[in-house]
Amino acid sequence: MQVSYSQPSFSGKHVFLIGPPGAGKGKLAEFLLRRKYFHLALGDILRDKSTPIGQQCKPYFERGEPVPNEISFEVFRQTFSAALGRNQLVIVDGMLQTEEDISFFANFIEAHSLEDKCGILFLKLSKEIAKDRILNRIICEGCKCIYSKKSKQLQCQKCKATLIERIDDIREQAIMKRLNRFFEVTLASPFLSRLIEKSKAKSLYLEVDAELDLERLEKEYAKIFDNASCV
Ligand SMILES: [Zn+2]
Repeated sequence: MQVSYSQPSFSGKHVFLIGPPGAGKGKLAEFLLRRKYFHLALGDILRDKSTPIGQQCKPYFERGEPVPNEISFEVFRQTFSAALGRNQLVIVDGMLQTEEDISFFANFIEAHSLEDKCGILFLKLSKEIAKDRILNRIICEGCKCIYSKKSKQLQCQKCKATLIERIDDIREQAIMKRLNRFFEVTLASPFLSRLIEKSKAKSLYLEVDAELDLERLEKEYAKIFDNASCV
């Protein structure tokens, strides 16, 4: 599906991403980092083994299960509030997955008067392509950049750190659990439909075809996030 150009761009908005694992949320984050966004990747924070939070979350990732809300919501609250304190725009990845997430999100943006400042960007990708992408995914230990195993690289081109498999990507069973959770729980949620309808009514919702190749995808993102190319 193509971006609708009659809608305003997302310039000046916090962006909440929705999309299956493998939809290229990391690549979009890289794109937005160049535009001075702060990347709040909830999964990466929870997965960071060098922190007490990461150690606490490790067993859940190994089983392909969601991290308990009391942990993830608190991490989100602290990290997002800190970015607001720095006057930074935020791109949030890994937040709107369950009904509890969506309720928390609605309360959070209301409490911070952010209803008109948060957009939702939906990255559309089929389950089959998502599965193929994640099964072949490796990640840089240093800068968290994502590569495909098909590239046969062992080292990150940007920071030279080692490329590793993420702990929750190692077992196909865990991968399938995450994918099924997205396609059967997140997408099927009436809470999500309502949130999308509400955001559409305020022109705070956009969809992108995440099956496009990277170059075309970056062009779509530029149309969405750069005012100049939208007028
Ligand atoms: Zn790197």
